Amino acid sequence: YNSDKALNTLYKESDIALYKSKERGKDKFTFFEDSFLDSLVKKNDIYTALKNAIIDFNEFHLVYQPKFYTKDTKKITGVEVLVRWENPELGFVPPDKFIPIAEDSGLIIDLGYWIFEKACEDFLMLLNQGIDLKQISINLSPIQLESEGFLENIKNILKKLQLDSVYIEFEITERVLMQNNENTLNILQSLRDMNISVAIDDFGTGYSSLSYFSKLPVTHIKIDKAFVTNIDKSSSIYIINKAIISLAKGFNLETTAEGIETKKEFEILKDLGADKMQGYYFAKPMSIDTLTNYVNNLEDT
Ligand code: C2E
Ligand code: MG
Ligand code: MG
Repeated sequence: YNSDKALNTLYKESDIALYKSKERGKDKFTFFEDSFLDSLVKKNDIYTALKNAIIDFNEFHLVYQPKFYTKDTKKITGVEVLVRWENPELGFVPPDKFIPIAEDSGLIIDLGYWIFEKACEDFLMLLNQGIDLKQISINLSPIQLESEGFLENIKNILKKLQLDSVYIEFEITERVLMQNNENTLNILQSLRDMNISVAIDDFGTGYSSLSYFSKLPVTHIKIDKAFVTNIDKSSSIYIINKAIISLAKGFNLETTAEGIETKKEFEILKDLGADKMQGYYFAKPMSIDTLTNYVNNLEDT
């Protein structure tokens, strides 16, 4: 141990291994591998680039994916906004890669307000052109929801734009609700009091207790793609979908099946009574300009 450098490396590597163990859950141990360093460096690169990108937001743009009524798949019931990030050095970074880093670092808060305001502006612009998309759904991370002044800021943005809150829906994942945090439930209730809709996204992927259904201030659940895929091939997946939909109906919640890619999946979920549909089978996420054309063409057919 005559070299400080070696000792430093050892510390650093054990630290990374510890970090990795934590990621894998409690009571795990991990031996250091060189590849860990790569992923850590990459995370750090993404963080640095992200921090710069949220100064002027020029590297971000939004895409919109339509949702349809099951009973009339020519009628749009709303659009979900999805963020895209194109960095000069890193290239296209998918949301699944950078959103968790934005959450861990708190950068999601500023980015989230930018997404919310931009999406509302786009929605309003189309409304002024006579295109009524009915509802704009915005994904919300727990960090945003629990951040200071969240409700006030949302109210202020809507007031500034003069957009009616009935057009707004927030999508939150089951994880948020599983913590059963009193404060979170109060914020959701306040959103409901403002007439904002709340959907549980990726439903079925967490391990939530069924009893919470009765007390949650939500309006809508989105069945995760994992349950939609292979619904025509696996009887257990079919049974799960059937149970989720009947449970939701019992509690007066709307259901959307997301990630529908085939006609078969669509037909089975239609039979099971899912209210709304979203997925590549109907439409992929698209820019606001493409969406405008798309909607105009829908109305013509
Ligand atoms: P999510 O909210 O569940 O969004 C659905 C994802 O599935 C989107 O991926 C969408 O492009 C994709 N998708 C939709 N239909 C299909 C289909 O038929 N087949 C397949 N294979 N995929 C389909 P995307 O845009 O990569 O987003 C991934 C996740 O990143 C989102 O999951 C959401 O959790 C998060 N995310 C995206 N945009 C935002 C945002 O603006 N704010 C926050 N907080 N999170 C976001
Ligand atoms: Mg979503
Ligand atoms: Mg989802």
